[in-house]
Amino acid sequence: MPKVKIEETENIRLSKTIKEILNPDYVYIPFNSNANLHIKSNEYVKKGSILFDDNKIPTYSPISGKVIGSCKVLSDNKLKDAIAIENDFEEKNLKRKTYKNKSYTKEELINKLSELNLNYNLKGNTLIINGIDYEPYEYSLSHITKNYTESILDTIDELISILNIKKCYLAIKNDDTDNVQTLINQIGTYPSINLRLIDNYYPNANKQIIIKNFKLDEKNTIYLNVEDIYNIYNAIKKDEPIYDKFITITGNLLNKGRVLKVKLGTRILDIIDNNSVLNSNYHIIINGLLSGYEIKNKNAIITSNIRSIFICKDNKIEQNSCINCGLCHINCPVNADPRTGYNLNKCIKCGLCNYLCPSKIQLIGDKNE
Ligand code: SF4
Ligand code: SF4
Repeated sequence: MPKVKIEETENIRLSKTIKEILNPDYVYIPFNSNANLHIKSNEYVKKGSILFDDNKIPTYSPISGKVIGSCKVLSDNKLKDAIAIENDFEEKNLKRKTYKNKSYTKEELINKLSELNLNYNLKGNTLIINGIDYEPYEYSLSHITKNYTESILDTIDELISILNIKKCYLAIKNDDTDNVQTLINQIGTYPSINLRLIDNYYPNANKQIIIKNFKLDEKNTIYLNVEDIYNIYNAIKKDEPIYDKFITITGNLLNKGRVLKVKLGTRILDIIDNNSVLNSNYHIIINGLLSGYEIKNKNAIITSNIRSIFICKDNKIEQNSCINCGLCHINCPVNADPRTGYNLNKCIKCGLCNYLCPSKIQLIGDKNE
């Protein structure tokens, strides 16, 4: 497979710490029309109360406060009904048990995770933990690894024993120098975890590409990333569902990019702290400049599927005719040819063909979708 190194040319230096934005005035929790609501307007909810269930899968409130009704929001680029909750800033928790020293059987672990709406596929005897951010300019997984190293390694170790894992790999970028150094120093304490340093080529962090590069059988491989491990840690140690999401916020309209820890259901506009941005022409791109999508509706909210937010200048690019250079085909990680449709059923929507095309032809996807 050809290797594409994408230079991160912009001078964006991120702080090594994670900035927490955990007190929005309101959160908006989207629900499907067939969901079974557990709350009414004006009712008070504690953090961790069940708001609704969908086929018995519960969704929990990430804050405490008053339910003020329902409204429409953009959730993962779809317009949906959402429950609006006004924050009372008290963080009043529904009393939850703690399981600091509990040892789980496999069945207990699976039950605990599904009770908390953490639905990971845990079938297989090989475990891959991905600590590599998917796109250039995304840094959330690297920051989670750096800021929670011990909890991450302890939880992976626990999963290896609970799930009876035969082989476990932790994948990190070989140029993620802080993490490489820290992990090399600490990994000796965790003999069951194999550290794998991966070249920084795009899209090396894609699940299918990692499994292929590691020469593993997909059916027998459990694939999680370090944020999943962080969520599993909170579930098994604190009995907590997912309340927060780690997001990289960056782009050429912001003075500084950074990694944020944000409450689920927060409006994206509420976490852009540079107000001058809002007065200029800008685009909001979700989940990367290569494979992401643009959102137009400003009432978009943070969901668990959002990895990054790019706030970019209005920068119109002229599209030209195809010069048959072949770059889109020869660099495709699954050997597809987007010009002819050859092998396109294998396309992983990495966006590399769009990025490399000298004629700026949008071959796959549409940022305006
Ligand atoms: S055809 Fe699909 S897999 Fe190939 S480079 Fe384009 S987006 Fe990526
Ligand atoms: S990269 Fe662009 S110009 Fe080159 S062959 Fe593909 S579509 Fe044509």
